[in-house]
Amino acid sequence: MLTAWQGNKSRLKGAVFRFIYIERELKNHPRVRALCDRFKQATVVECERYQEIFNLRAQNFRLQKQAPALILARKTGNLILKTPPGYGIGGAHNYYFSHLLNCIYDCRYCFLQGMYRSAHLVLFVNYEDFGAAIAEQLGREPESHFFSGYDCDSLALDAVTEFSDFVLPFFAGGRGLLELRTKSVQTKSLLGRPAERNCVVAFSFTPDATSQAVEAGVPSVKRRIAAMKSLAEAGWPVGLRFDPVIWRPDYAAHYEELFVQIFSALPEAAIHSVSLGAFRLPSKMFKTMHGLYPEERLFAFGLAQKGRMVTYDEPRGETLLGDVRQALSRYVTSKKLFECQDLSVST
Ligand code: SF4
Repeated sequence: MLTAWQGNKSRLKGAVFRFIYIERELKNHPRVRALCDRFKQATVVECERYQEIFNLRAQNFRLQKQAPALILARKTGNLILKTPPGYGIGGAHNYYFSHLLNCIYDCRYCFLQGMYRSAHLVLFVNYEDFGAAIAEQLGREPESHFFSGYDCDSLALDAVTEFSDFVLPFFAGGRGLLELRTKSVQTKSLLGRPAERNCVVAFSFTPDATSQAVEAGVPSVKRRIAAMKSLAEAGWPVGLRFDPVIWRPDYAAHYEELFVQIFSALPEAAIHSVSLGAFRLPSKMFKTMHGLYPEERLFAFGLAQKGRMVTYDEPRGETLLGDVRQALSRYVTSKKLFECQDLSVST
């Protein structure tokens, strides 16, 4: 399925939002003004609160995904939240924040499809409030880890949001750790500044054939490896994320080929951390997603209910993770390898 964005740089430049919804109180906010100026062709619609649009009942996520609108809003309440247990890369204090909800890509396993009624992109423009919450937390626990790719892809829209430019200075001088998790190749703003040693740019991968089958709009594995290599050469810590690990009959050969592609381009020393996780979804989300795509093969075979989750049946799930873990151990030391067991599956 083609989206209005499709994620690569040339299309990003020419991207079009047909509608921009803005919260009325923000109509003179500098970021709102700049985005409305940038997307002049869009019809701008004012609303009181973004939930009026985003949480509407009877929306068609699948249809909206083809041409999502941009919603500009203010985030209120808790701006940083504790990650679920089992989510992290070795830190004792793990938090996530969501300056953006939803994604320009269209991965069939993405839990966002099951979580939100709408595929529209919500950008919270009160970056300063996110910055203040991060600074406050770093004041309390300077070793805190922050994950920004929980409800979105951290970098896919960075050329539009410019959020990485805003947030990186909060981690300057070795305070805390920020993970930017992405399937994009939007690295221009990072490459245009000095590398930040405590910002991990984590790239998510499935093997090429799987990516082509279930990750619509995502840049090719080859392009992502090239982007990762450029960042590593510029001194940025880079991470590898294999989450979810996806089954197919010939998965072992495909994952092996992926690891050869990656590790022949990047020495192990350049890798900050590697994580992997099983395909897993809360049953309710799975039901919603299956309803959206009843013809999807990914949802039709080899899955079972385990408690409140849907995951691979056994011994398929254990064998798959064990084999991938084993294959990875030939390239990465165990201290860099983490297994995610939280409830969500995002970028
Ligand atoms: S899995 Fe990640 S990259 Fe794919 S649609 Fe979801 S947020 Fe975007």
